[in-house]
This record gives sequence, structure tokens and C-alpha cells, in this order.
Amino acid sequence: MNDREWADFLKTHGKEEWEREAAKTVCTMCGKPFSSWDMNLGNNRYDIFVGYPSRHDLERIQIKLCADCFDKVLDTIISMCKTNPVVDDGL
Ligand SMILES: [Zn+2]
Repeated sequence: MNDREWADFLKTHGKEEWEREAAKTVCTMCGKPFSSWDMNLGNNRYDIFVGYPSRHDLERIQIKLCADCFDKVLDTIISMCKTNPVVDDGL
């Protein structure tokens, strides 16, 4: 379910149904079923086909991250960057 479909689902269903629907998605990193909180991150599901010259050439990668793991991944990547990739902090 993409973020638009999720927004529509929220309007037409109750909280118990939100949690039941969200739990159909499981975090790739920690294995936790999503909650409606995790779904609020929107299209936080990545489907990447890797091309040459990566060592992962020709692999298809699917990653779904809960809100906690998404922050862990971003904290890790941002701390590794020589150039700050945060181009807008929303403030
Ligand atoms: Zn997770």
C-alpha cells in the first residue's frame, strides 16, 4: 500500500483495522510488524534493481523499514557523509 492508498485507508477504516493492515508489512531490518505509526512514514519501502559496476550488480533489493530502523539507517549514512546530505531540515 503506497502513501496515497494508506491515506485513503485511514479515512475509511477504524484504528483496529489500521493496525491489522499495517502489521501485514514487516520491517526488513528488525523483523517487527509495522504499526500505523510506521506506515505514516509514507513510501518507506524501497525496491532497487542494482546495476553495473556495483558488487550487487543484477540483484533486486527490497527493503521495508519501520520508523526506528529508518532513523538508524539515516543516522548511519549521514554520519558517514563528508558532504551533509540534509539539504532541507524542515525548519
Ligand atoms: Zn525495524
